[in-house]
Amino acid sequence: MNRFTLILSAALFMSVQAHAGIISSDPSQTTYAEVKTFLHELARAHPGTTTTFELGVTDSGDTVEGVKIGNGPVKNLVVSTHHGNEYGSTEVARAVAANLAENPIPGQTVYVIPVLNITGYNAKLREEVSDGSYHDPNRDYPGPCGTEGPHKLKSTALLAAFVDREGIVASATLHTFYPAVVYPWGLASHDLSTPYDDQFKQLVNLATQESHYQVGNSTEVIYAANGTYEDYAFWKHGIWSILFELGNSHNPVQADVDEMIRVNVPGMRRMLEQAPKERATNHAFSGKCDGRLGRFDRHDE
Ligand SMILES: [Zn+2]
Repeated sequence: MNRFTLILSAALFMSVQAHAGIISSDPSQTTYAEVKTFLHELARAHPGTTTTFELGVTDSGDTVEGVKIGNGPVKNLVVSTHHGNEYGSTEVARAVAANLAENPIPGQTVYVIPVLNITGYNAKLREEVSDGSYHDPNRDYPGPCGTEGPHKLKSTALLAAFVDREGIVASATLHTFYPAVVYPWGLASHDLSTPYDDQFKQLVNLATQESHYQVGNSTEVIYAANGTYEDYAFWKHGIWSILFELGNSHNPVQADVDEMIRVNVPGMRRMLEQAPKERATNHAFSGKCDGRLGRFDRHDE
């Protein structure tokens, strides 16, 4: 084999591998600019079903963007990447958006926000910065047992205003890195039941038919954390709020990401399809907070 045919066959081999998805871009290196490009291309490819929207401007001056998919009266939400280092969850959010844009859920408008914490995402850092301080965005919401906020970050205030303004009914929030799909309460209390445990169990079972991830109450399966978005959404509004902890790592390679997408996107879609069409009415927290439990918040999920 001469030098020319050697180079040619090497190039052909790489092109076949790339085509088969064996070689692809490193998901840990994706920037927010690329995520925005993806959203705009998705909207362009599906003009009848999908438009981009702006959530608003964050502390860093960046604009959080998302896509609005479908035209139905029931409005649901998929929000990802409160934690900037959890890029695997961003990839799953992008895949959900693509799935829904291709085939919107009848009767629904689903908003997908792949990245809430933009500076964290670009730096692959869990926290977001405002006024020179680092804040954990998913401890920055008001809650009945306390918070590290509330709303020291504009991003979390923007999302809180959005779910209120749009009347969001069901919500999936995406994180890595523990294979579990869980429901409220996730706060520092021993009183973890809501009047809707049965409905929530149904939703997480629908969501995990392919993944077989662990399901249950958030505090029991993961650990107690105050000031999270997922508890806030249910506590404040009665939103059917489900937390997806995806995969086994904060540093998934492309093959891991592909698997997370394969086993989670159908379940997320099914969960949204079958979620109640109205918010829960009895969503106050009536239990007792236990501050000692809050000390076990590891801030790593
Ligand atoms: Zn997280």
